[in-house]
Amino acid sequence: KYYPIKKNFFQKLKGEKNGIIKAVDDVNFTIYRGETLALVGESGCGKSTTGRSILRLIEPTNGEVYFEGKNILKYSEEELKMARREMQIVFQDPYASLHPRMTVEEIIMEPLTIHRIGKLSERKKKVEELMETVGLSPKMKDRYPHEFSGGQRQRIGIAKALALNPKLVICDEPVSALDVSVQAQVINLLKDLQQKYSLTYLFISHDLSVVKHISDRVGVMYLGKLVEIAHTSELFERPSHPYTQALLSARPVINKEERRERIVLEGELPSPLNPPRGCRFHTRCPFKIAKCEEEEPVMKDIGGGHYLACHLN
Ligand code: SF4
Ligand code: MG
Repeated sequence: KYYPIKKNFFQKLKGEKNGIIKAVDDVNFTIYRGETLALVGESGCGKSTTGRSILRLIEPTNGEVYFEGKNILKYSEEELKMARREMQIVFQDPYASLHPRMTVEEIIMEPLTIHRIGKLSERKKKVEELMETVGLSPKMKDRYPHEFSGGQRQRIGIAKALALNPKLVICDEPVSALDVSVQAQVINLLKDLQQKYSLTYLFISHDLSVVKHISDRVGVMYLGKLVEIAHTSELFERPSHPYTQALLSARPVINKEERRERIVLEGELPSPLNPPRGCRFHTRCPFKIAKCEEEEPVMKDIGGGHYLACHLN
């Protein structure tokens, strides 16, 4: 029924001075087949770390990631290689992730070459198909990344990610580096491709406005913890965690009729090296109660697929 289940997921990274930090701590969620689950939060909240740990681009120190019933973290080299075909990533900055001295054809073909799929002529044909699929003319296959616009480069990155017919695609801020006008085109492309190839997306973004248009469900992260998770419409209509409410209130108002009171968060984002005790959000929460400084709220089911970690509920 579902793809990866992350259970009591726990990720430690080397901190610069203090040795080890927990970038993600006890993050627990399920991605269902064919859905788009978004992870949102400010930079440094652990969303990218979570995405990369699923692919084992970062090795988690502890925890479990299940993909179709098997714990990926226990995979052998060979199993991991197979799993890498089924799980791909699209990066934020297509320019940084595309080799500048490789032609578009070479870039898109690379995963096929690494996994030794088909003959050269078949790979070339597949590259042409992929280019067409993402809206690029195959005539441009001999060009280099710098000859393309930002949006086109992201299309190249998407074509490369699709080369191995993956099931799960981790989109890590895929439109954040693009102009707003181009963002919508790339989001629409991702939606079309999802339909066409029955893809499942983990969509990582700091931008709730983007997330609203693509995701079925949204998980909100703060300082390495998941604080709320709900269906997208539910989250936007009934945001229940004070941090989610603050994020939503900070979005620009497009419709003048829509009256929104901005919740201004006080204080700085604390260092993940030394997260606050109790509820990690208590240093900035406008609604905190005494208990919040001492006791960490656990994730509770508040009905309708809506989960929340806050003492007020
Ligand atoms: Fe605010 Fe307390 Fe809820 Fe944390 S647990 S979000 S500090 S009210
Ligand atoms: Mg990031």
